[in-house]
Amino acid sequence: MTQDDSLDESTSTFYLEPGRLPELERLEALIERLPKGTRTERLQTLTHKGKSFPIHSICFGSPDPSQPTLALVGGVHGLERIGSQTIIAYLESLVARLEWDEDLQRSFETHRLVCLPILNPVGMMLGRRSNGRGVDLMRNAPVEVEGRAPFLVGGQRISPWLPWFRGKKGDGLETESQVLVDFIQRELFSSSYSIALDVHSGFGMRDRLWYPYAKTKRDFPGIRQIRKLKSLLKRSYPNHVYLIEAQHKQYLASGDLWDYLLDLHPDTHAGRPRFLPLTLEMGSWLWVKKNPLQILSHRIGSFHPIKSHRQKRTFRRHIYLFEFLMKASKFSKNWIS
Ligand SMILES: [Zn+2]
Repeated sequence: MTQDDSLDESTSTFYLEPGRLPELERLEALIERLPKGTRTERLQTLTHKGKSFPIHSICFGSPDPSQPTLALVGGVHGLERIGSQTIIAYLESLVARLEWDEDLQRSFETHRLVCLPILNPVGMMLGRRSNGRGVDLMRNAPVEVEGRAPFLVGGQRISPWLPWFRGKKGDGLETESQVLVDFIQRELFSSSYSIALDVHSGFGMRDRLWYPYAKTKRDFPGIRQIRKLKSLLKRSYPNHVYLIEAQHKQYLASGDLWDYLLDLHPDTHAGRPRFLPLTLEMGSWLWVKKNPLQILSHRIGSFHPIKSHRQKRTFRRHIYLFEFLMKASKFSKNWIS
């Protein structure tokens, strides 16, 4: 093994140990070596049992918020750490390429990439889907389902000890939810066109790209754009792996933060929508099928590939999606008309 090989092995995968948050360590190490002009912020610091957990953002490219923008969000559900890891691995590669790739440097003069890689660090530390207070952030928004949501999974206010807890009535948004809402409003709402990709894992055998709504079976106002984006992806990458569908095709849910943000955007219901929130739901049941013992792991469960070669494959697998969405957000005028 050469020195380069051993370096690659130690830096490319994430080793999980109790009491440590390797994702946050890697993110903070990356923040230390960001290229000039990259903006980073500690948006909030959460405390849990006397320990501090920062929520960091990183923004690449033009400081002008009217420029087209892609947002990458990860770690909304603490158990689904592969989402944060995939974003961090992608950003590490991007930062390395920005050192020498002048085309890439220039591409950011009129484009922005804004990232919130670990929204729920306390949940991640605890190995839970919910945040430290037992609230499922993706059920926390003030959005009510139209029709009948499935019991529990559609969001419940019975107890934080059951999954999919929305928070107590009247409590408002959790700190992490508010951070996401403020960040997306500030960084995306003035943009000429923006796409947000929220990276999750844990549903089914396939990688899915979900578009709104979660709250209703009605089409959302951007449905025509989705049809065009779907066709663009198919033509550009005929062998792509994604099943693109409305989230409500799988289940209806109250409290989805992307439903909430979509309806908050001033242009969603007035003329042409220019904000498109998507969720990447990596099909993690395949990892379990190949490694059934991992379902017994309390901290990892069925939401995360344990084997390092499977982690690496996951990191590679979605790079072209991130790059495609960068270009699709930047050149929206060429495919939306
Ligand atoms: Zn999730």
